[in-house]
This record gives sequence, C-alpha cells and structure tokens, in this order.
Amino acid sequence: MAVTLETPLARVLGPKTATSMAEQLNLHTVRDLLRHYPRRYASRGEMARLDDLQKGDRVTILAQVRSVSTRRMRQRSGTITEVTVGDGAGSMTLVFFNHKHAALRQGAWGLFAGSVGSYQGKLQFTHPDCHMLDNDTGDDDWARALVPIYPASKDVSSWVIQKSLKLLLGPEGNLGGLVEDPLPEDMRTRHGILPLAAALLDIHRPTTMEDVEHAAHRLKWDEALILQLTLAARRRAAALEPGTARPRRAGGLLDAVDAALPFALTDGQRAVGEELAVELDRDQPMHRLLQGEVGSGKTVVALRAMAQVVDAGGQAALLAPTEVLAAQHVRGIRALLGPLGRAGELDGDPTGTRVTLLTGSLKAAARREARAEVAEGRAGIVVGTHALLQEGVEFADLGLVVVDEQHRFGVEQRDALRAKGNRPPHVLVMTATPIPRTVAMTVYGDLEISTLRQLPSGRGGVSSSVVPVTEKRAWLDRAWERLREEVAAGRQAYVVCPRIGDSPEDAAGAEDEPEDVDGAPEDGPQGDRRPPLAVLDVAELLRSGPLAGLRLDVLHGRLTPEEKDARMRAFAEREIDVLVATTVVEVGVDVPNATVMVVMDADRFGVSQLHQLRGRVARGKHPGLCLLVTEAPSSSPTGQRLAAVAATSDGFELARLDLETRREGDILGAAQSGKRSGVRMLSLLEDEELIAAARAEATALLETERGLADHPGLAAEVARLATDERADYLEKA
Ligand code: ADP
Ligand code: MG
Repeated sequence: MAVTLETPLARVLGPKTATSMAEQLNLHTVRDLLRHYPRRYASRGEMARLDDLQKGDRVTILAQVRSVSTRRMRQRSGTITEVTVGDGAGSMTLVFFNHKHAALRQGAWGLFAGSVGSYQGKLQFTHPDCHMLDNDTGDDDWARALVPIYPASKDVSSWVIQKSLKLLLGPEGNLGGLVEDPLPEDMRTRHGILPLAAALLDIHRPTTMEDVEHAAHRLKWDEALILQLTLAARRRAAALEPGTARPRRAGGLLDAVDAALPFALTDGQRAVGEELAVELDRDQPMHRLLQGEVGSGKTVVALRAMAQVVDAGGQAALLAPTEVLAAQHVRGIRALLGPLGRAGELDGDPTGTRVTLLTGSLKAAARREARAEVAEGRAGIVVGTHALLQEGVEFADLGLVVVDEQHRFGVEQRDALRAKGNRPPHVLVMTATPIPRTVAMTVYGDLEISTLRQLPSGRGGVSSSVVPVTEKRAWLDRAWERLREEVAAGRQAYVVCPRIGDSPEDAAGAEDEPEDVDGAPEDGPQGDRRPPLAVLDVAELLRSGPLAGLRLDVLHGRLTPEEKDARMRAFAEREIDVLVATTVVEVGVDVPNATVMVVMDADRFGVSQLHQLRGRVARGKHPGLCLLVTEAPSSSPTGQRLAAVAATSDGFELARLDLETRREGDILGAAQSGKRSGVRMLSLLEDEELIAAARAEATALLETERGLADHPGLAAEVARLATDERADYLEKA
C-alpha cells in the first residue's frame, strides 16, 4: 500500500500511538503529522551543565539515568516517579506524576528539556521533554546538532513524535514521492521559496538554524498564500453578487445633511465620502471597512452614505454595539435632519423620512410600531442593536448596512443583517480600533479599506499620565483637584471603573457590556488580587470626599435602557458634571464638552480599551486630560504597558502594542491547539512583508483567466481550508 498524505496514522504507526495522537494532539493523517512542527530545537551548544543550573532556567540537559523509583503519593491518589540523573558535574531529579516513562532505565543517556524548578532545596524538572539516546539501534540523532522538541501530550512525548516522523521520512528523508508541491515553481523562484518536500524535511531534521529559517519561510508561505487565496476568492465572489445601485440625487436628504452640518468636513471625510458615493452607485455591493482614530468623525461619513441610499429610495440600517450608542446615534441624526427626519409627523417634512430606533428594550407596542415602520419602508434610517438582527425584522428595501465599532461584532452578525436585503445590500463597517496592516490583510482581508487619519482641526489633544498610587499617593489627590478645576471651568469628566459594584458577580453587565473583547493582559495569577474597583463604591467615596459638591451620577449596564439614556442625555446637556461609569462609555460616546477621563484600576483594561476610553475626551475644542490610575508598580510589565499607552496617542502604534500583548490565536480566532487552524507558523507581528507578498500573488493568480485551474494543488488546499473547521477562525475574529 502506498502511503499518501491522506493515509490515516493508524496505518503507519502503532495503534496505541495513533490513537493517542488523534485524541490528544488532533493528528489523524500523515499530512497532520508532517505539519506538526517542532516548537523549538535543542542544540548541543545550548546544553546546560547540571552544576550551573538555576531555578527558572529553561534548558536542555544531557544526562544519564542513575536511579528510578515509583511510589504512591500520600496526599493524593496516583503515583509519583522520581528519576535521578547525572552528567558527571552534578545531578538532579526528574519528577513524573502518574506516568512511567518506560525508556527511563538505569544507565540510559537522554536529553531532558524543561524549566528548572526546585523542591525542598533540590533542583528538579517536572515532566520534562525526554529524548532517550538509543545507541543500540544506531540512533544518529545525537550526532545531529539540533534536536527538534515537539508540542507533546500526556501519552505522546516529543521523542515519540520524532520517532514516528523518522518512520515517515525514512532514513534518507525522501519525501519526494509523498508530497507534491502546490506552489507554482515560478512563484517559488520569485520569492526564494524552498520546495515543500525540502522544507518539511528541514523543519523536522535540520542541521543548522539556518535550515530551520528557510524551511519556516516556505511553510509560512503556504499558510499565507492559502489564506489570501481564500480571502481573494471571497472578494471576487462578493464582487459578482448582484446588488442595487444607489446613485446620488440632488435636493434630497444628503444635501440637507450637508447644509445642516455645523462644521466643514475634513479632507479625509470628503475623500472617503467620495469613495463611498461612487461605490454605492455601482450595482455590486460595496464591502468596505472604514477605520479611523477615535474622534475622527466616522459617524458623519456613514450618515452621508445612508442619506444617499435613502435619496435613491432604499433603506439604511446602522448597527451599534450598545443601546447607549444606538440612542446617541438616533438623537444626533434626528437633530441634524430636523423636520426631514420626521416625515409623517405633524411638524415633519413629507418629502423626508423617518429615523427609527430598534433595540431589545423597546416595549412590545413600540417594537411592533418600529418593525412596521421598517417593513413598510417608512423608516429610511433604522438604528439599532442586536435586536436588528432578530427574526421578524423585515426591511422593505435594505440598501446599506453600516456596522459601527466592528470589533464588537462578528462576521456572522454582519452577514445576518446583510441577509435581510432583497438583494445583497452595500456594507460599510466602521472601527476605531486601528487595525495593524497584517490584521487588515488577514482577518479583514475580504473588505476594502478606507482610513481617516486626520482628526477634525481645532481639537485640543489629550495629555495622558499614569498615576501609580502605591508610589505617588499625592498624585491621586492632585488628579481630583485637576478634575475640580476643569469642572470649575465649565467642563465635564468621566471616571471609569472595571466593575459595577454591590454584587459579587457583576463584572459583566447587561447588553451594554459585552465580554471583554480586548482581553486585558494580566501579569500573573489572579488568586490574591483584590476585586476591581466598583462604580457604586467609587461614586460614593468621591461624592463624600474629593468631589463633594459636584453634580455626580453613575452609568452602568444594570440600569434600564431608559435610565441609561436619560443619564447620557443629562450628561450631554451638562446637567451632570462627573459621570462615574463602567466601560459602557467605552465606544462611541460623544460629549464634546467632556475633558477629563480618569480610569481607575487602569491595569484591568486592555490597550485598545484604554485608547477608546481616552477617545471620549477632547472631542471638542478644549484640550483633554486622561489619567490612568493603577496600583501596579511603574517598573512592572503592566506599569510599562500603561506608560506606553500614556506616551502615545497614535492608534496604530497602540494597536501594535495590543497585538504584542495578546496572543495571536485570540486574534485569528480558533487558531489555538486542538483545532486544525491553517495558521501555525505565520506571525501577524513579524510576517507583514510575507503576508503582503502572498496577498499580491493570490490576487494576481485569481485575476488570470484560468484562476486556479492550472494549480490543482493550490485549489485543493483552498478547498481544505474551507471545509475544515479552519474556516471559522476567519469568522470568529
Ligand atoms: P468617531 O470617528 O470616533 O465615531 P464621531 O463621528 O463620533 O467620531 O465624531 C467625533 C466628534 O467630532 C463629533 O462630535 C462630531 O460631531 C465631530 N466632528 C465630526 N466631523 C467633524 C469635522 N469635520 N469638524 C469638526 N467636528 C467634527
Ligand atoms: Mg463612533
């Protein structure tokens, strides 16, 4: 029987090994095993001597087994196996729980890799990677300079994987007949890419680190190209969908909006506006991502696009992540449109349209009425939260979907709303979280991208500082003084806390506080940390202490939508000086008179969340102040992360910092172990150039007349990505 990439491992390996590999490492076929790459390589040069190990070192040692003893544990059930090894210079103990390593026999030599711990003053390895050197069977691995260390599992050690691969690769490592190279040769030549067989061989059995680098480059290309082909195919498919052109019409809502705007558009807003106007006028649906700094004025760009669509007889839906934001949008749009937004009402202009709010908290009668307005087409502009996505919400003629603050919505939601059009509507996705180029090319790779780089002129800018309370107690007092000064000058302030308060499980609020998508990085174990500061407690302390006498109120997810709306409104109308809130104010909230943002327990927030929060101030002509209050020492990683946020307001730089502090898998979604994700080697941080080159190649390939027809290998890989669960890492992001 000829072995192919699809051959089940059970046919080439022992049944026990194959089962364990399948169950514990999700490796099923020869292909899976070949694509199970070493995590790192142990080299002889890095081999540590037992007499100069230190606790915490991550090392590989070469040592001989002196003794092995297994006993039952006293406190817990199960066994503990202690193996003493020595290298002539010193000795140490290897500890295994409920695991007997058959190959660890007295006298055997092996490589042991792990991080050095200690127990009762003696250095030890707990469950190290073991690689026994088997001299009897002519094991030549020791002769090699580099020993691959694989991601392993309970019953499948790194060296079992290595042995299994050796079986597959054969003594000469002849993979030629087994793997066909899907990459066209001319592409390989252009980018200096190794043939696949050579790369696989070198990644598993390198002689030098240079081999590893070349091999990794090639394997990254596979991943990047397949991903980009998938995305390019999506873009092309989208471009072929039949849409409806929504041409600009003079004398309608758009002109009214332009006339009513209290400011001149920035050059960027104008340019992006033109781009959108042209694309809306095409009969292919637009798929565009608008990214722009917090405060760059995306809303008005979206509103102008919506107005154009309404002028052309269609409806536009604006999907907002929170009720607070949805209500704010409706208020702003209605104010701008005046009578033109109240068609059908006594004082409305019959040539205008209606602006309808549709959220989950509407009472039954109001919801019925809102849905009817939408279904009958009386509502030209529909603003809502997730409630818009529900069944039963029907549009008369949905022409444009705008998704605000995309990082709070998945692709599924975008698609659910799109599906409500008779024909695929145009789609505009907006985000204030600047997207590093690599992420833009991968996660958002099926969208065209517009960027607003410029803030409207006349903005005062925000100065930010970290207030490390454990080191500089007085700074916090000074912070409250500054806040009072601003209020005395007629300005307003936010104080943000991570938690609501009054109940233990209140960190997550209602709809307005979805899961923490930013995933605030933490520095260590959580067990001993005090609970995060709470809005209700902090408000009480401020009211009776440093901020006594100011008009102070709270805002959080446990309030009813009416209460929230009323308080936001009161704040916008300057009836409240200080709003103590959760991250319910994080996205989009727009009160230009607010100039101070104090973030309590700032270390509990992620980088882009802090940037978002800071974006709530200095939205008008007054300069802003953002204070990040933390107990984290300024020299700790957390302290430094906060200092970095304070040091720059460049969203792109912060997005990069955010990318560094989050794991890649979080961004690409299900790329974590256990899932067969297409991305293993590719790094969003380091491989920008490669991803860009792959994107260009993918686009060019699909633009040729025959597409992938001459590249069955590539077509098969693309199909595999689509059918595998892999595809969902594109969705989840
Ligand atoms: P974001 O891009 O963060 O969503 P918004 O659309 O909420 O920003 O706009 C921020 C603020 O800037 C709003 O108060 C808006 O009215 C104002 N704004 C928008 N465009 C301009 C402009 N061209 N000139 C002055 N102010 C503007
Ligand atoms: Mg916004």
